[in-house]
Order: sequence, then structure tokens, then C-alpha cells
Amino acid sequence: MNNNYTSTRSQKIQISAKEAIKKGFADDGGLFVYPELSNLKINLEAMKGLNYQEIAQIVLEKLLPDFSAAEIQASIENAYDHSFDTAKITPLVSVNNFHVLELFHGPTSAFKDIGLQMLPQLMKRVLKKNNQVMILTATSGDTGKAALEGFKNLDQTAITVFYPHNGVSKVQQLQMETTSGNNTEITAIKGNFDDAQSNVKKIFNDQALKQKLGKNISLSSANSINIGRLIPQVVYYFDAYFQLVEQKQIKLGQKVNFTVPTGNFGDVLAGFYAKQMGLPVNKFIVASNANNVLTKFFNTGIYNRNIPFLQTDAPSMDIQISSNFERLLYYKSNEDTDYVQKLMSELEQTGSYQVSAPILDAIKEDFYCGFATDQEIETTIKNVYQNDNYLMDPHTAVGYKVMRDYQTTDPDTPTILLSTASPYKFVHVVTKAVLNKSFDDDHEAMQQLQQFTQLPIPKNLAQVWDLPILHQDVINQANMTDYVLEKVEDHFHDKN
Ligand SMILES: *Cc1c(COP(=O)(O)O)cnc(C)c1O
Repeated sequence: MNNNYTSTRSQKIQISAKEAIKKGFADDGGLFVYPELSNLKINLEAMKGLNYQEIAQIVLEKLLPDFSAAEIQASIENAYDHSFDTAKITPLVSVNNFHVLELFHGPTSAFKDIGLQMLPQLMKRVLKKNNQVMILTATSGDTGKAALEGFKNLDQTAITVFYPHNGVSKVQQLQMETTSGNNTEITAIKGNFDDAQSNVKKIFNDQALKQKLGKNISLSSANSINIGRLIPQVVYYFDAYFQLVEQKQIKLGQKVNFTVPTGNFGDVLAGFYAKQMGLPVNKFIVASNANNVLTKFFNTGIYNRNIPFLQTDAPSMDIQISSNFERLLYYKSNEDTDYVQKLMSELEQTGSYQVSAPILDAIKEDFYCGFATDQEIETTIKNVYQNDNYLMDPHTAVGYKVMRDYQTTDPDTPTILLSTASPYKFVHVVTKAVLNKSFDDDHEAMQQLQQFTQLPIPKNLAQVWDLPILHQDVINQANMTDYVLEKVEDHFHDKN
């Protein structure tokens, strides 16, 4: 058996990649991790000249050792061969004096597509004939739609998405409400993203519910807690690096920095995986919005979520509990699962924890952290458009601002800024910054922005206004478990 994965909270748990993808979460409430990543070193020379799919093949074979090479190849083909609007999948664009890795060319115009076009392909190859899986997803806006597009109409699966009522952009909400497919369920909940995420976690740990579902129906997750979503994201760090080599901006072996707009810490953790596997990285620049729990952690070693939750202009990062940070604590404590278990139960009970000084120092060796306010987001979008003729979305603008802060101490290392969404997805913020105008109607705003910038609107966003609304539920947090049960009955009952 290839039981390569374990839990962040207990070494006793040993599980294959396939089982880890099927389950999503570990039974002890921890997250699945691959121990000793440095054993998976990649030969960089051998990656030279390869395209995205070929790089993906190498990375995924390493991290998913119980999938056959043919299974991985077929998954990559299905995930990336037709649903992206560029053959490069994640093109690296060099603007005057910075480099942007555009991660938003997939079917829903956010970087989540890269993981979520792949996860269903992997899931499909994990399920046995009589298995049925309900995918549960808490979303701050982008994961929901990307997961729905990935899983819709996939046999043996159904998907339920929970998003914060009045907590996502108009475009994001419409994208979800208009989702077709015979196995898709979407509901707003009265609460914020952290409420949605912690209730989903509770549902996963609800033993009585598991009993009711029986042995052939299970629950899994499409959030970045699922390794099947996280691991595909490791690929574009390698691919970006080689694009920079190809553009002759760097020499093979030279170190670069990556700036990552961060919420749940999944994207940047994938970068850390790449570094452990041998990618030459100096620092990861972690950029948050005004929900700056992580910046405070970097300054003090104290992770404290007992502060007001803010709704910002970069809503996909309105998060106080960065789930994947638990994985980093696992690696940075030298895989001390008892220690992680202790910190996580403190977080659950008191809303905060403090790490030891050596662990904080070890984290700072690889990461720098900062944040941007809404005002800074707007100024950044406006200035970068005016000075460099590059239009960025609010999340990317958060990254840009923090990258510039960091570069005052490290001006020379080439730095790649990850762009996580199309500017049209958060059009009200972008038009305010660039056109200095507020629109009541986002559709109108989109057209005006297009006229002004001449930048094409991604097809899925141009079309969303004309599609019928198919989902409009709003429920209380307390009813999430019942909602899941009801939807399991609807979708799976007949076949049992
Ligand atoms: C999800 C998201 C992020 C944050 O990514 P994490 O993996 O949660 O840190 C940043 N920007 C956009 C547009 C997103 O959708």
C-alpha cells in the first residue's frame, strides 16, 4: 500500500492519496499532509522546455504515488485541454518592472479553476462502483462557482455550496445562482465565510450524520483542505519559474520571490510545497486584505481571530481562520503532530494560540507577510493602470501593494505576482478605481470598463447576465446539516 499521507494532528493516521482525496479531512479533524516533502526532489534540468501539462505530469506523479501515470495523464488532459482560454493555462506576463502570473484564464475566471478542474478528475478515478459522494463546499465567492463547474454532471457525485449571504460580489452571486447541472445545490447562509467553513467542518465530524448516510455514501470537500485541490496548484509555481527562464529574465537555478494574495493559505502553501520539492525560491510574500490576522501573527507569534470580521473590496480573502496554515505549522514544527493538535484545540476553544519563537523564526525564513486596506487597493488599481497600462483585480492589487512594501528590503530578487482573478469579476471596485465612477448596475459597469480599457470580457462573465436564476435558497447556519441530508436524499436516495 502507498500510505504516503498522514494527518497534521496524528502520525497514527496513514492513508493513500486516493483515500485522502475521497475523505477530504482526517478523522481527527486534522488535514492530510505528505511528510518529508524534501524526499520528493524534482530534477529542474529535466523540466526545461516542457509545457504546462508535461510539468503537471511530473509534479502529480510525485505527490500522488498511488495514481498510475496513465490516470494522471488522462486527468490532466480532461482538466486542462479545452476549458482554459489560453494554451499556456497560466501565462506569465512581464509588465514594465514586474511579472504577473495570470491564474484566471479558466472557466470561472478565478485561480480556483486550476485546482477545481482537476479535483473532479481525480475523484472520478478514486470512487468505486457503488460509492456516492456529496461534495460540501464553503465559499467566499470563487471556490463555489469553480467547484460547481468542475463537479456538475459528474456521475456518482453531487455538490452543495454554502456562501455568506450578502458577502460575495454581484457577479459571483449570479455565477452561482445560474449554475446548471443535475447534481448542483447552492445556498446562502446567514453568516460570514468563517461561519460557513466551521459549520462544514462540524458536518464532516458529525458521527450521527455519517451513520445515517450509510457506508456507500460519503462526504468530501472541494476546499483547499482537500489535497486533490491543493496539489494541482503546486504545478504553476514550477511552470511560472520556467516561463521566466524561457523569457530570459532569470537563469535556471536563480532564486525568485512569489507574491500571493492570501485567504485560506492554500495557494501560498502550494508554493511552499514547490520550494520543498526543489524550486529555487527566496521568499513567499503573503498578502492579506484588512482582515490582517496573519500580519499580526508574523509580528507577534500570536494567532488571534478574536477581532471584528471585515467585509472588504477583496472579498475572496475575507477570512480569519486560514485553514491551510495548520499544514505549515506541521512542517515548521518538524512534523510534531501533538504540538499542532494542541495549538488547534486552543484555537477552537479560545480563538487564539501562540507559537514558540523558533517556530516563528522558521516561518519567517520562507515567508514575509503584509496587508492592504481598501483605500490602498483602489489607489493601487488606479496607479498601476495609469502607469503600466495593466488592469488588475482587487485581490491582485493587495498582492501588488504588499510586494512593493517588501521590495524596499529586497529590491533585486525577481518577483512574480500571482494574479488570482479577472478584473471583471470585481467590476464595481475596478470601475471606481479606474473610471472614478460608481455604477448601480454591475452589468453596465462591465460594459463601460470594457469600452474604456478595450480589454475583452471573459465569455463566462459576459454571458452570466442572460442566464436563468436556478438557485436562490437562504438558510440559517443552524440548518446546514439538515440541508445536506435533504440534498443527499434528493440526489442519491433512488439509487440506494
Ligand atoms: C481564494 C482566493 C484567494 C485566496 O486564496 P487562498 O488559497 O484561499 O489563500 C485570493 N484571490 C482570489 C481571487 C481568490 O478567489
